[in-house]
Amino acid sequence: MDLSENLKKYADLILRVGLNVKPGDNILLRVTEDGLPLAREIARQAYGAGVHHIHSVFTDDAMTLARFTHAPDEAFESYPEFFVDFSEQAYLHGFHLVNLAAPNPELLKTVSPARIGAWQKVMALASEKLMPYVMENRVKWTMAALPTPAWAASVFPDLPLSDAMEKLWENIFHVVRVDQADPVAAWREHEENLKNHENRLNELAFEKLIYQGPGTDLEVYLPEGHIWLGGCSVSPSGERFMPNIPTEEVFTMPHAYKVNGRLKATMPLATRGRIIEGMTFVFKDGAVIDYAASEGEDILQDILDTDEGARRLGEVALVAHDSPISQTGLLFKNTLFDENASCHFALGNAYAENHVRGALMDKEEKKRNGMNDSITHVDFMVGGPELNVTGVKKDGSKVKILVNGNWVI
Ligand code: ZN
Ligand code: ZN
Repeated sequence: MDLSENLKKYADLILRVGLNVKPGDNILLRVTEDGLPLAREIARQAYGAGVHHIHSVFTDDAMTLARFTHAPDEAFESYPEFFVDFSEQAYLHGFHLVNLAAPNPELLKTVSPARIGAWQKVMALASEKLMPYVMENRVKWTMAALPTPAWAASVFPDLPLSDAMEKLWENIFHVVRVDQADPVAAWREHEENLKNHENRLNELAFEKLIYQGPGTDLEVYLPEGHIWLGGCSVSPSGERFMPNIPTEEVFTMPHAYKVNGRLKATMPLATRGRIIEGMTFVFKDGAVIDYAASEGEDILQDILDTDEGARRLGEVALVAHDSPISQTGLLFKNTLFDENASCHFALGNAYAENHVRGALMDKEEKKRNGMNDSITHVDFMVGGPELNVTGVKKDGSKVKILVNGNWVI
């Protein structure tokens, strides 16, 4: 594998397909210490494509862990307001977001869950006004990932570190189609496939979905006016961009008050620097009324206790079991990849773009229409080769959507 050649192709993909960068755009680039070679390649190509300014925001795992381990309790009680103002000003000044994520899935395993949960809540509440910029696509945004030694070691614990890094790069390049001769063309074709499913689902306009699989028997109503989406998103000014690289999902919003039955997660979830395993949920009238996890139940509890909307669903996403990510057979321990290997749901906030009036509704109207509202959005996977999803139309007729985990429409 030629890493530097692939990095160039990856940067090109992130800019052209991910951000759909235009002359005069500015970029807010979130990056960690391990992301510098890719960030520099992105900068070279972005300026060459006519970008005016790139502002980099660095985070460092060792410094994050140091804060969680050594800082006093009071440090977790407030979030500096000007951090939020800075991001908002950047968005208002034509900066679009590129997030190069490289999380260590187990970074915070020695930290008390209460501290992590409290901080998540403080940060999310303080940043609430930033959420619409992304959730309503007011700016173009794209998220891609790159390996770090800690992540690679966690995915391939039996390999020497340099082999683990190379193997994780290879798998990332494969699932984002950078190992193909023309990745941008491969993405155009892939996107057309997703758009076909999107169109079909929108035509069918189901009243509800029925999920059946091992440990799962769930009925999910969809709000009147829901919109299925796959592939690119569109900003209010009509610019297309790809929020996630990779993406394999076609998703919409569930009715926040009309979900009933049982769900069993089919993959562990890496979130907040911890791993949650063996999750099960019972829903009644849209709310989680019972739940369990064989590991990390304390983290799950913190997520559910974030606010009222955190106990309800804000996203339902269909992903074919034969997607390239799923075919690797790997647990990436990174939601960007794992959620695109499997059908998933999200607890918490719904995306405005998934409803005809999504960006126009106030909190009351959202509630009436079944659009969930929360300061959090946490995806978890319910998929696999034994999952069947059936759509039910208003007249009661049924259409099979996924059989044994794969598309049949
Ligand atoms: Zn999703
Ligand atoms: Zn999601």
